[in-house]
Amino acid sequence: MPRLVPDGVFDAFGWCESDTLVWGRPCERILDSSTPIDGSDPARMVFVFHAPVDFLPRELAKLHAFGMGLTDEWALAPYAIDDATDELYARRVRPQDVLWLAADNLNALFWGLHDWSHFHNHGPFEERAWTELQCDVAALHWMWLNRETLGVDDTVWTRARHEVAALGRSRFGGDVPRQAEVALSWAST
Ligand SMILES: [Zn+2]
Repeated sequence: MPRLVPDGVFDAFGWCESDTLVWGRPCERILDSSTPIDGSDPARMVFVFHAPVDFLPRELAKLHAFGMGLTDEWALAPYAIDDATDELYARRVRPQDVLWLAADNLNALFWGLHDWSHFHNHGPFEERAWTELQCDVAALHWMWLNRETLGVDDTVWTRARHEVAALGRSRFGGDVPRQAEVALSWAST
């Protein structure tokens, strides 16, 4: 993903190139696309550790991801996304080497992809609206590229794109810079 927001928003944009995120969901169900992307906390989503990680808060994965046969696997505590963004960068731990994503619904998948972008692009989070916008666009773009695999049809895609754009605009408090609109429109190119 190119950086679409102003220089200086991130202090280490693309410190680690993102390549593969393994996504898991219950095999007997398709992606639940009924959950709106409205800024509420994502339910039924967690980053599961597939390698030992002793520097991040952890919880049992099975507390957050269901129907996948998870038992004693550890996962990143849902409140520790910012810790992971900081510590993975500080220790230069490649996200792919320690994490996979469990998510069974559209809102969860979107936020998983959004957080995946945070993990690869470190920012001081002083420009919140811009920081979040970059990660939103990355999440939408990855969703677009993988829409067939994910089972995201045109109707769901259009709804998701509009919901994410509305959320992005709201962070600017009604005064949306032109560069932000350009970035939002980039997602489906
Ligand atoms: Zn974020």
